[in-house]
Amino acid sequence: MAGRPWHVARTVLTAANGTTGAGLLLALLTRTRIRRGRHGVLIAEGWRLRMPPASCFTVGSVIITRRSAEWLLHEQRSALLAHESRHAGQYAVLGPLFWPAYWLACGWSYVTTGSFGVRNWFERHAGLNDGGYPEELPPRPWLRRFR
Ligand SMILES: [Zn+2]
Repeated sequence: MAGRPWHVARTVLTAANGTTGAGLLLALLTRTRIRRGRHGVLIAEGWRLRMPPASCFTVGSVIITRRSAEWLLHEQRSALLAHESRHAGQYAVLGPLFWPAYWLACGWSYVTTGSFGVRNWFERHAGLNDGGYPEELPPRPWLRRFR
């Protein structure tokens, strides 16, 4: 599911379910600049707040980055762009339910590995490597006791 029909569906669904609107509102409130991305995703560049501690994060079909749109659209970042675009696809399917589901997945990953991503289904599905996460981490000691 990576062809044009999916890109259009993703754009339409994230617009309809309000998550792209939330991303645009967030960009507006924080005065990040909206630029055209690729395959229907938008890029909001110049995020200045300290949280989250990542170079990019995605809200609906809006990828918000601390860097510039050119930086993210550079071919060296194509894996990262693909990773963030897959999150947009997750928003297309889940709508606002993405947020509680994502935070639950973060919590689970954190208590089991100490990383927000490694056992987070959303990050695994978007591609751990592409998102800059390690592919695997040893389970924490409390979890090892159950094995
Ligand atoms: Zn991610």
